[in-house]
Amino acid sequence: MSYILIIILIVLSLRYHWWRIPISYNQPRVLMYHMIDEPLSGNKKRNKWRVKPKDFEKQMAWFFKHGWHSYTISEMVDAKTLPAKSFCITFDDGYEDNFAHALPVLKKYGFKATIYLVPGYSYNSWENFEEGTFDKLLCKDEIRQMQESGLIEFGSHTLNHKNLVTLPMEEAQKEIKESKEEVESLICTKCRAFAYPYGKYNEKTVKIVKELGYDNATIVKRGFFEKEQPFMIKRVGILGTESFLDFYLKITRIRNKF
Ligand SMILES: [Zn+2]
Repeated sequence: MSYILIIILIVLSLRYHWWRIPISYNQPRVLMYHMIDEPLSGNKKRNKWRVKPKDFEKQMAWFFKHGWHSYTISEMVDAKTLPAKSFCITFDDGYEDNFAHALPVLKKYGFKATIYLVPGYSYNSWENFEEGTFDKLLCKDEIRQMQESGLIEFGSHTLNHKNLVTLPMEEAQKEIKESKEEVESLICTKCRAFAYPYGKYNEKTVKIVKELGYDNATIVKRGFFEKEQPFMIKRVGILGTESFLDFYLKITRIRNKF
């Protein structure tokens, strides 16, 4: 009997990392979401990036209830000081469901967010999905409405969602430069924020992003916000396949696992 209890304890410990020391609330958190939508039946891999609307609502309600302060990524980078419990919500790829399912919740709680667009696309057809099953991205009108809400900052996630590290230098430069121009023509203001596709970056890509006039860039590595690293901002990925307890432990302990 006691063996069974020990095994259960080990399994739960590996799953939840409850033993990790909580990270101080003085360290700002940057969250990474993709889609806010209902899961696809029997597709665990794709559901990883689809957080259910009711889970997203529950997560935002938690931040609200506990008095967290929300920022866009550029506001967070600009802030001279940040109070305890500062956080930033980011969405990669710019899915249409961000308009339909995330915006109403953000409005409800007055939370801000940064969304990284892939302006050359209407669907996420850069993915290796079966034909006809791609997910729709935000259209021009939705982007405009989101911007008018005053809660959303739009950043760039390149033109074609390619791994910048493996692209020839000029192509990487083009992806970073032209996507900035495209986003700026959509939002009629400066595009300051960048997210490296797949979180892939190296010294060269960081240099290009800086030189082309962005003010900040996010990566996929887990961790909290560090002011000294505005072009390699770590994030906490929130997944659709995880429970509220996973979410809570990630936020409080920034546990080292996706
Ligand atoms: Zn992406």
